[in-house]
Amino acid sequence: MNAMSLSRTAHPHLLQPLDLGFTTLRNRVMMGSMHTGLEDRFYNYGKLAAYFRERAKGGVGLIVTGGISPNRQGWLLPFGGTLNSIFDVRNHRKVTQAVHEEGGKILMQILHSGRYGYQPFVVSASAIKSPISMFKPKALTVSGIRSTVKAYVRCAKLAQQAGYDGVEIMGSEGYLLNQFLCIRSNKRTDAYGGSIENRMRLAVEIVSQVRAAVGPSFILMYRHSILDLVEGGNSWPEVVQVAQALETAGVTLFNTGIGWHEARTPTIVTSVPRAAFASVAGRLKQAVTVPVIASNRINMPDDAEALIASGSVDMVSMARPFLADSQWVNKVAAGRVDEINTCIGCNQACLDHTFANKRASCLVNPRAGYETELVYRNATRKKKVAVVGAGPAGLSAATVAAECGHDVTLFDSSDRVGGQFNMAMQVPGKEEFSQTLRYFARRLEVTGVRVQLGQRMTREQLLEQNFDEIVVATGIVPRTPRIPGVERTNVVTYLDVLQRKMVLGSRVAIIGAGGIGFDVGEFLLHDPAVALPVSIEDWCREWGVDLQAQSNGGLVPAEPAKPYRQLYLLQRKTARVGAGLGKTSGWVHRAVLQRNGVQMLSGVDYQKIDDAGLHITVNGEARLLAVDHVVLCAGQESLCELMPPAGATTAPGAPRFHTIGGAALAGELDAKRAIREGAVLAASL
Ligand code: NAP
Ligand code: SF4
Repeated sequence: MNAMSLSRTAHPHLLQPLDLGFTTLRNRVMMGSMHTGLEDRFYNYGKLAAYFRERAKGGVGLIVTGGISPNRQGWLLPFGGTLNSIFDVRNHRKVTQAVHEEGGKILMQILHSGRYGYQPFVVSASAIKSPISMFKPKALTVSGIRSTVKAYVRCAKLAQQAGYDGVEIMGSEGYLLNQFLCIRSNKRTDAYGGSIENRMRLAVEIVSQVRAAVGPSFILMYRHSILDLVEGGNSWPEVVQVAQALETAGVTLFNTGIGWHEARTPTIVTSVPRAAFASVAGRLKQAVTVPVIASNRINMPDDAEALIASGSVDMVSMARPFLADSQWVNKVAAGRVDEINTCIGCNQACLDHTFANKRASCLVNPRAGYETELVYRNATRKKKVAVVGAGPAGLSAATVAAECGHDVTLFDSSDRVGGQFNMAMQVPGKEEFSQTLRYFARRLEVTGVRVQLGQRMTREQLLEQNFDEIVVATGIVPRTPRIPGVERTNVVTYLDVLQRKMVLGSRVAIIGAGGIGFDVGEFLLHDPAVALPVSIEDWCREWGVDLQAQSNGGLVPAEPAKPYRQLYLLQRKTARVGAGLGKTSGWVHRAVLQRNGVQMLSGVDYQKIDDAGLHITVNGEARLLAVDHVVLCAGQESLCELMPPAGATTAPGAPRFHTIGGAALAGELDAKRAIREGAVLAASL
């Protein structure tokens, strides 16, 4: 893109090239590292290459692979992706070749997990177990440190042979190099422990020896932990001292990392304000002379453009947003920002999968990681398709079917599209969910889907219109549990609260502690007088984050707001309340409710509801919860009355019926499954 056309875009700074001296990046947008799971098996490198090819074709300036270990001790999981032998180079070449063919540049991330490894060979600075792995590490001996440095050097040289444009050395999120840097995990008394000069020795040796081995024209990016967010993390002067030493040792540019994985402060979930930590990266830029990259919760171009335009940082890194939309940069350059499929920070299909040792994908883009398997091809015969229900499943089915060339009509009895997502986006901290509806609304226009809202279709009406395929995506109805008194006026459903905005009393009991029970809890705890989304300052106060990092690790005492209501969150199961929530986000929801004094009870038997409140027994003991209202969040039942009865015979030429999403299975109602099912079905029509 030339200077003239750049000045015509709304995001000129973002699209400006970045000259690194020996090479130039085509713009200021980096796809940060995201472990997909494909890196871990040699036979998946074809799929990995297709995944990166699509992103490079989408215009991104620089790509970083998922973490690749320099040796066995550095594995995150048993047999995790490793580059320590010439035999691995051929696989990696598939990736670099694909990216280069599309005009992109790619770095390989070298990640040594240290004590975060979920395998028996783990090592660290000291023999101190992390709270998130069951394996206690061995403290590296000095000769072990030397071989670790050699392993990094060998790995970087092999990456160079494989055609990578450089490497990113992972020094943040609490992995090995971060473990050496901080007194939290480094209690050594030798030349690698004690003073900050000693604690940074390993990182500096790795950078200087890698630089010496790869020469001056190879990108050497270091991901530096600029806010550890754990007790015993580094102070700001230490962060700066380490960065300056690493720059001298040969770093080309700094990526930034926020928070260790064991931190109890959220850093990337959807409730973290957008670009919350970018100011800290801006402070690092003041202290070094090489370019600095801001990361974490940057997902849309306006925020990214503002950061670059202000000169605060040189580039932005986004990892998950490129799972959500491989064409992010091309859309920005073409002024089609309203067509971006925005990452909503849910973690449900990416990080939750990674931590469950499953292939990462994306809730809003089920093709991510499945580029060769879920393909939206032009249909060989254009069919007339009806999709009934404009929730996530129906939206996905309708837009993919239209993209494949079918003639699609989408029906919904409501006067707007979105189904359950319209409720999710009412929840404080889930404002991003509205972006998915904006995306789908625009996608319906772009793909030419006919939309008929405010009309409840019957099977007969559908049959009259000669559709070839009828997709039933009518969703669910909330379940009403059989509890004496459930019909009283002080008993409401989550729809009354989130959709109809019914005003409730100051004491409320929530029946059902699934995702929706937690959502309703967070909604009811919010003081309606306080504007949403919360500002970065208020969020930092609430979680005890000091962006100035005056204190070690950037932690200060939290100052949570006074609870707005007295809440009880109840379930019949005896398991811990919230145990079924997402692995990487559930703890945040539990922490919010705990901080607000919500009483979470499991093993509950519901007896009756009357004027006095909700009568329950907990582990056999009778209790009265004196509440003004009871909210039912007791799961859902499928709404699939449009489906022909099971076993019904189909006349020749009659349409084929399909059911997807909550209409197919309410028990596991979830947007990830709904969107994927819609896309998979539509691609197969
Ligand atoms: P859910 O997760 O299945 O939870 C339903 C809750 O209702 C459970 O706590 C269940 O606990 C209770 N329940 C079920 N039958 C009951 C009965 N007959 N009487 C009383 N209580 C009963 O469903 P959901 O909360 O409606 O969420 C639906 C889906 O949306 C979930 O699959 C989730 O993935 C997704 N979602 C996720 C999030 C999130 O992760 N933040 C947020 C919103 C929605 P007991 O059976 O133990 O009583
Ligand atoms: Fe973003 Fe959620 Fe997709 Fe992960 S699954 S990339 S957090 S939208």
